Amino acid sequence: METPLQQLKDSLLQEHQVALWIKREDLLHPDISGNKWRKLKYNLQEAEQLQHHTLLTFGGAYSNHIAATAAAGKAFGFKTVGVIRGEEHLPLNPTLRFATSCGMQLQYVSREKYRQKDDPAFLQELSEQYYQPYVLPEGGTNNLAVKGCTEIIEDIAIDYDYICCASGTGGTVAGIIAGLAGEKQVLAFSALKGGDFLQKEIQQLIYKYSVQTYHNWQLITDYHFGGYAKVKPELLTFMQAFQSQYHIPLEPVYTGKMMYGLFDLIRQGYFPKGSRVVAIHTGGLQGNAGFKERLGVEV
Ligand SMILES: *Cc1c(COP(=O)(O)O)cnc(C)c1O
Repeated sequence: METPLQQLKDSLLQEHQVALWIKREDLLHPDISGNKWRKLKYNLQEAEQLQHHTLLTFGGAYSNHIAATAAAGKAFGFKTVGVIRGEEHLPLNPTLRFATSCGMQLQYVSREKYRQKDDPAFLQELSEQYYQPYVLPEGGTNNLAVKGCTEIIEDIAIDYDYICCASGTGGTVAGIIAGLAGEKQVLAFSALKGGDFLQKEIQQLIYKYSVQTYHNWQLITDYHFGGYAKVKPELLTFMQAFQSQYHIPLEPVYTGKMMYGLFDLIRQGYFPKGSRVVAIHTGGLQGNAGFKERLGVEV
């Protein structure tokens, strides 16, 4: 399915002679949104080929990946298990309510235990408990996810110089960089504080998938707003202005921070005059209901 590419027009863009488009990956699927669908696609095929009946994965209580995996399991006939970081809180938040409504079974683990999410012994324990599920790592990032994300760039039918993407584990941007095979400039906006580790992580993900090292990309770490899923008033103000101007919803964890950062870079003159920039809307809007509930703020 092809998702729309929308041009954004604004006096700031005009002043700096930057042309900006947003690629609406958030419209890929109503429940398996944006990059999470791209990341799941080949994993679901693999799980089916290997005759697994269950998908098991990991996430925080507001995780877009948990919601997407639950919806994908329901849509494609897998049982799903979500290993959730931290204690159960009732009533369930909107993300976990949605996940359970799709049939996902939740297992809560302490924060200490959750840190073992990649340990073979813990995985073996879970594998026995849930009858050999197909295991997806936290955030859904693995080699097949990177493969799926190479397809994000396939239907961008315009010429452009830069492509921007929000990053958590780096899997999505690794796929974009690998798919571009050295063409264009790629900007990865870290959603995490101390996101410098992503430099190596992204490089390794690209190398594992393509056996190549590319240099046409840059990690931007200045727009985390205090850390993962943290917000500040100026971020929320920016998002509200953006949404009322363009009628495109954002969420504060990834796409809001990327867009804020992107406009800030434009203001600073980061992009040469005449630059053509594409920003990927990676989706994640399911998280907004939980944000509203938790913080009492409209996002
Ligand atoms: C998960 C997510 C990301 C981060 O993707 P990674 O592949 O982990 O870097 C970006 N945007 C949204 C909306 C997401 O849900």
